[in-house]
Amino acid sequence: MSQGQASASGVGDKEGKRVERIARHMRAIISELGLDINDPNLRETDVRVAKMYLEMFHGLEEGSEPAVTTFPNEEDYQHMVMERDIPFYSMCAHHFVPFYGKAHIAYIPEDRIIGLSKFSRILEFYARRPQLQERLTEQVVGFLESNLQPRGAMVVIEARHLCVEMRGVRKPGAQTVTSALRGAFHQRSVREEFLDLLARS
Ligand SMILES: [Zn+2]
Repeated sequence: MSQGQASASGVGDKEGKRVERIARHMRAIISELGLDINDPNLRETDVRVAKMYLEMFHGLEEGSEPAVTTFPNEEDYQHMVMERDIPFYSMCAHHFVPFYGKAHIAYIPEDRIIGLSKFSRILEFYARRPQLQERLTEQVVGFLESNLQPRGAMVVIEARHLCVEMRGVRKPGAQTVTSALRGAFHQRSVREEFLDLLARS
């Protein structure tokens, strides 16, 4: 975060050039579609889309892992911690249209714990890039596994994919559900506790 400030002008310059280059390609697409690039509603679409891509794919800029602090488990808490219904937006790597929904993230600590607000930070980090739901699910659980070394971790993601709903087979409202788990969650009883917590209203 501090590095952004230190070299703000350099970053701005580089970013400006990238916006220009992406916008140029976007203009070519707009023309190729037979649209009038001078239409008032399209005149700045090239630049708007370029800026939007850089914002939505910002996870690519931040390095390979989200910066998240963990803490020693001083209370020796040994039960399940779950954050559920965490909303997210991502972009399908195959079609560059959104998929979005909510994630349920749980772990059982061993020696380290993590601030609850960090779950959404981790999710967003991996969501803000061209992505696959399966990979997103694995990356979040993998992050918990490698940074907390918990007794177990599990992630369930429910999402709607606009590439499924708007084109091809057209299944409006269909949800794709993925899950990934580690450690203690391989036990049926632990998974059942997860699903119990999920079912509570
Ligand atoms: Zn897709």
